Amino acid sequence: MSWYRIASPGFVAGESGMGFLLRTASRHGVGPRQLTRHLGLRFTGEVWRGDVVLAAKSLGCEPHLLSDALPQMPHSGCWCVGGLELASPALLRSAWSQLCPHCLVGARYHRLVWEFSAVSVCAAHRCLLIDACPTCRLPLRWDRPAVDFCPAGHRIKPVSVYGQTTPDQRLIDFTAWISGQSPVSASRSTWIDRLPREDAMALVRIAGLLSQEKSAVSARDSRRVQSVRECSAWVLRGFQLLEQMDPESPSDLRRCANRLDGAALSRLAGRTRSAATRSLALRWLSWMRRGRRTRRSSARQQELGLSSHQEVA
Ligand SMILES: [Zn+2]
Ligand SMILES: [Zn+2]
Repeated sequence: MSWYRIASPGFVAGESGMGFLLRTASRHGVGPRQLTRHLGLRFTGEVWRGDVVLAAKSLGCEPHLLSDALPQMPHSGCWCVGGLELASPALLRSAWSQLCPHCLVGARYHRLVWEFSAVSVCAAHRCLLIDACPTCRLPLRWDRPAVDFCPAGHRIKPVSVYGQTTPDQRLIDFTAWISGQSPVSASRSTWIDRLPREDAMALVRIAGLLSQEKSAVSARDSRRVQSVRECSAWVLRGFQLLEQMDPESPSDLRRCANRLDGAALSRLAGRTRSAATRSLALRWLSWMRRGRRTRRSSARQQELGLSSHQEVA
């Protein structure tokens, strides 16, 4: 392998940056870790650090193509990938990869859209994505011999998804919309679809994770690596909560606000470029704070009631 100019297999439109690095590494018979170390790129938890422009030049590919396809933080506090500014790194499945084995048969490259945690199905093949090897169950980490091989060296064949039930149509529509295959979800036309795609993903995640019966989900939970099944479950829960509500209706706002995550909403309000999302997030936040104040004051009244009763006793 020549270290000053590395022949790359050529970037495909819609390819993930990590997938491209994996494909280049496997062409030269090295691991992606070895390649990225040589290129001076480092993956630190959620984003890539290092000179991506220089790395692209050594690979002989257009700098903006690689730069757009790798999760990065070009200015403080904002994760960017594929031209989308994401409110949270939890919207990316960067530590673990997921894929559609049917798509890989047609073209052996990793699609960028698979990196979003809100995407858990393939809209073209109407199947759930896989994130573990069907043969040995090992997670499909990026550090593996090739795009269509598992870390232990098993070839990932599409036969593994036969017999699977077709995922919920809403997941398929949402994926088609996020990947730009449909302008607005085909079977739905809700207020969610009118928001920018990155904001819709964030809202669905905030609503989906927090509408669970048990309790609010901790920050640790929302950052940890989730399986494809967990991701599709929170997306569906998010839809259920958001689709039933009218963002203009005070009673719906009150009902939803009790279950939303304030920190995530403030982050979204601070980062979005869309006025509609900002006003929605701020309205939710104000309803949440109002709800908390009411709950606090009624708790205090109860306390006072109890103490005066004790005094009398
Ligand atoms: Zn597919
Ligand atoms: Zn395997």
